[in-house]
Amino acid sequence: MNPQPLEPQTSALPLSYTHHANYNLAGIKGNFSKCAKTWQGSAYRQMITQHELLIIGGGSGGYAAARTARDEGVDVGIIDHGPLGGLCILRGCMPTKTILRSSDVMSLMIRAQEFGIASVTPQANLARIIDRKAKLIQEFADDRIQALHDSRFTLYQEQASFVSPTEVQAGSHRLTAKAFVIATGSVISHPSLPGLDEVGYLTSDDALDLRRQPTSLVVLGGGPVALELAQFYSRIGTTVTLIQRADHILSKGDEDLARPVEARLREEGMAVYTNTRLHRVTKEKDLKTVYFSHKGQDITVSAEEILQALGRRLNVEGLQLEAAGVETDDGKIRVDGTMRTTQPHIFAVGDVNGLHEIVHIAIQQGEIAGWNAIHAQEVQRTHEDRLTTQVVFTDPQVASVGLSERDCRDQHIPFLVASYDFQDHGKSLCLGELHGHVKLLCHPQTGEILGAHIVGPEASELIHELIAVMYYYGTVHDLLRMPHYHPTLAEIITYPAEELAGKVLGDTAETG
Ligand SMILES: Cc1cc2nc3c(=O)[nH]c(=O)nc-3n(C[C@H](O)[C@H](O)[C@H](O)COP(=O)(O)OP(=O)(O)OC[C@H]3O[C@@H](n4cnc5c(N)ncnc54)[C@H](O)[C@@H]3O)c2cc1C
Repeated sequence: MNPQPLEPQTSALPLSYTHHANYNLAGIKGNFSKCAKTWQGSAYRQMITQHELLIIGGGSGGYAAARTARDEGVDVGIIDHGPLGGLCILRGCMPTKTILRSSDVMSLMIRAQEFGIASVTPQANLARIIDRKAKLIQEFADDRIQALHDSRFTLYQEQASFVSPTEVQAGSHRLTAKAFVIATGSVISHPSLPGLDEVGYLTSDDALDLRRQPTSLVVLGGGPVALELAQFYSRIGTTVTLIQRADHILSKGDEDLARPVEARLREEGMAVYTNTRLHRVTKEKDLKTVYFSHKGQDITVSAEEILQALGRRLNVEGLQLEAAGVETDDGKIRVDGTMRTTQPHIFAVGDVNGLHEIVHIAIQQGEIAGWNAIHAQEVQRTHEDRLTTQVVFTDPQVASVGLSERDCRDQHIPFLVASYDFQDHGKSLCLGELHGHVKLLCHPQTGEILGAHIVGPEASELIHELIAVMYYYGTVHDLLRMPHYHPTLAEIITYPAEELAGKVLGDTAETG
């Protein structure tokens, strides 16, 4: 279906079109028949172009919504000011995992002797690591860009802002639709810390493009982005100090998952401070100094660079949500399980709704919103958090699905818990990967798995066995009945499962 021109509005914009079948003009790409601008006498008249569904933001969440609606035969317009590709591909998941591969290889080379290989002194070449990353990312981005240029979409490469609940301005285009999906993602937040702005700092965006390796680095923050980048730089030979405000790194999860990572980072030579308060930052000659307190003591750390990785904020600036009548809570766009905002025809998916900063969830939410938006009269699809999964790609990796111990206690959900260490597991001994453990939480009466957590080697892969079992509401007994090949890392999952199976229906449940 093609977009329909609606009521004309007078505009002074000079613009002329030639009648080509395809065009890419003034930021709009698609079929000429979709054009809704006309000349009337000498005055240029701007028409409103109507789509059935308009998506603002063509990243992972927005593209998933667009693709879902398009596959149902609906006319979809996508507005994205670019650069096209989305955070995951351009400055998130993919570039970080690409460079981490280099530092992981370097770490294994440094351990050569441990495996009976003559020792080597590897030398990182950051410019080449970044070149490798840039090449791969370009390929991933090209695929997404090509997908966005699918002739079944109309792509507006413009900044979008609402002018009313039913109209959006995208550059010189006034657009309307029956439904909208906001998928504008998040941006790096810039905390106010005395001296930090004056002294200057790197963000994750900068760190992924840095070609000259700093000799020393202070990392502010203890979340996934801070940790992955801190370990990358540390492993390629930069002296890294990590400063985290909370009691432990990865403060949103259970503490036992953070400790093996902290231990490994320290073993590798990183200084890790938790439970701190930042005071100020100064610069003397070529060194930047961070002043903070730790366990009642004032401490200063100086380094060539500071990496500020204290978090991101929702990207709603300039969207004019007030004009759309979309309400926010604490700056987060309020959505229900169907991904609807407070305006029933406007949806918000991905980072911008503040629920998670995880790409597969942005995609799931996009698919749900894309479907609900065009099937408003049917039973609506909803997003459920039961299988929420998060992975941190440090070494050891940290992977979690479902409820944590803290969640169970906070929500007064009774649970049984059991853990098993990688240092007691045959295959991890063979691999020389001894940090971490597997932890399972199950329902005390039924044995249904409520949550699973792995800190250790290949945790990002191993967690998928537990996601699959939990998807089917499986129990610890199911885990025991399923065959596990020997010797594998996956076998470790059966040990805490066995312990729990012995306790189910017993009287040892924790009840928060
Ligand atoms: C360093 C780093 C590493 C990460 N690693 C992982 C990981 O390993 N695994 C994981 O699951 N997640 C990871 N994430 C998080 C993940 O990248 C995001 O959760 C996900 O990409 C968000 O997708 P989105 O569709 O919500 O937003 P985005 O992909 O950011 O898309 C938003 C789009 O909207 C456009 N836009 C914004 N405002 C406007 C406007 N007003 N008008 C028009 N267009 C606009 C932008 O150009 C952009 O294309 C990482 C994040 C970072 C920063």
